[in-house]
Amino acid sequence: MAVPSQPLTATDSTAAGYIDSNNPATGEVIGRYEATRPNEVPAIFEHARRAQEEWATRTLRERCVMLRRLRDTIFEHREEIADVLTGETGKPRVEAIFAEILLALDTADFLARRAPRWLRAERVPHHNLAMKAKSAWLEFEPQGVAALITPWNYPFAIPMAEMIPAVLAGNAVLLKPSEVTPGTGALAADLFHRAQFPAGLVQVLQGRGELGAALIEGGPDKVFFTGSVATGQHIAAACARKLIPSVLELGGKDAMVVLADADLEIASSAAVWGSFMNCGQTCISVERIYVEQPVAERFTQMCVEKTKKLRLGPPTDRDAEVGPMIRLWQLEKVEKQLQEAKAHGAEILTGGNRRPDLGPNFLEPSVVTGVDHSMQLMRDETFGPVMAIRPVVSVDEAIELTNDSQFSLSASVWTSDPRRGKEVAARIHAGSVMVNDLASYYGICEAPHGGSGASGWGRTHSRLGLLEMVRVKYVDVDRLPRIAKSWWYGYTEELTAAAGRFVEAVFAPNWKQRLAPGKDKGSIRRLLFRRDRI
Ligand code: NAD
Repeated sequence: MAVPSQPLTATDSTAAGYIDSNNPATGEVIGRYEATRPNEVPAIFEHARRAQEEWATRTLRERCVMLRRLRDTIFEHREEIADVLTGETGKPRVEAIFAEILLALDTADFLARRAPRWLRAERVPHHNLAMKAKSAWLEFEPQGVAALITPWNYPFAIPMAEMIPAVLAGNAVLLKPSEVTPGTGALAADLFHRAQFPAGLVQVLQGRGELGAALIEGGPDKVFFTGSVATGQHIAAACARKLIPSVLELGGKDAMVVLADADLEIASSAAVWGSFMNCGQTCISVERIYVEQPVAERFTQMCVEKTKKLRLGPPTDRDAEVGPMIRLWQLEKVEKQLQEAKAHGAEILTGGNRRPDLGPNFLEPSVVTGVDHSMQLMRDETFGPVMAIRPVVSVDEAIELTNDSQFSLSASVWTSDPRRGKEVAARIHAGSVMVNDLASYYGICEAPHGGSGASGWGRTHSRLGLLEMVRVKYVDVDRLPRIAKSWWYGYTEELTAAAGRFVEAVFAPNWKQRLAPGKDKGSIRRLLFRRDRI
């Protein structure tokens, strides 16, 4: 939640014995879920560990078969998933399908195909001459129990994109979904049960922040957290205390750089979608636009016109393009940023008003100009339907402003010259940069997702995300087991000299020097087959 999080501890208790699910479009309670008590956590871990031990003995092939079954189960229940998640988030159904259900299906399908190659033991040829007589490989072992703590904005796609690789790699999963979207969290975990994954392998824990803290106290083998910077700091500290590795997917302040040669019709449509999809409540939504001066006015005008045409409404209205914000507290946070920007000279060209006629949490998408980096609107994550546009005099200024942020999640560059686009992308600090598209990389299975700085660390999605789910073990078998190693004890002056000659023979910068030790071939041979060892 966007409510400032406290450094909670496992001893804090959940005040209510249940978690309510609300419809953000109407404010009605649409579901009630039993809260997990922190004192239940140890038993949950025990169950998970037992299930994981058995699960890890199954072959990768068997696990892939189960993953395909999960994919089919998701497909079979896709309407139910869309109902639950649009009911709880208020997002348009088309976004639930494209950005959440499709992503989960594709992740399961993709990893079931690729994992056998990526997770099988990988041969390690040795480069060091002295180690040639060894065969070695990397093995990818499960971490054990993975704790997933997830937010409300993509309550299906985010846990699914982590649960799928986690179980595939042989882990058990304990998912603590956001208290704002307990129904989608419960359903995500239940799909694994419906697909007949072993009992206890995927469990859901319903609760607020203190339960998340208790989950970490319980000692998972790895923590995957997606959420705000403030909570991420608590999680990082809690993990550090127990030396638990973590992946942190935190906030973003993504920039869009529009060069003067861009197709403005396309770029403005992208800007409008990129700023307002999921009502702007997306970590990789466009929060800042830097547009080259000569086209700034036309581009801004196009954005305003297109924004005005957007249809607001609840997900039950299939023509609605922008839904409600998740809660009033998120709406108020956005309004505060808008007011602060206005007080410092920004101009709201369209939108920014509440729409109580539609429901309690509707806020008109707004286009704002006259912004600068002294404003919260340009520095802090907004996480709402606001497009902030700033003209720039040069590409260099656009890049400088893009990089002037504590966040570094993703960005986009718009130009009709792909070569220039690549050059600009290379100078932007971000986990990913798209040229002439934005945000869609999140749905590309091959693309890693993650940032640095205040955007967190580690990666999800892609092969890199899968590798976060494993411990890498190096195994080495010596092919000459009857020969003692030259570097073992029995140190003598002769051994020291032979070691020096060996270094020269391999690393001397010119051939003459390298071959010089060859005059004393015997010493190298003696180094390899020493008789004076102990
Ligand atoms: P949040 O930080 O308020 O909550 C996220 C999760 O952490 C929830 O499940 C919450 O119950 C739990 N939590 C809260 N305090 C905790 C504590 N002390 N210990 C353990 N768990 C705790 O975030 P939110 O409002 O749900 O989500 C919005 C934020 O998430 C935004 O900042 C957004 O940018 C970020 N986000 C990032 C990504 C990404 O991939 N980088 C994706 C989606 C959302």
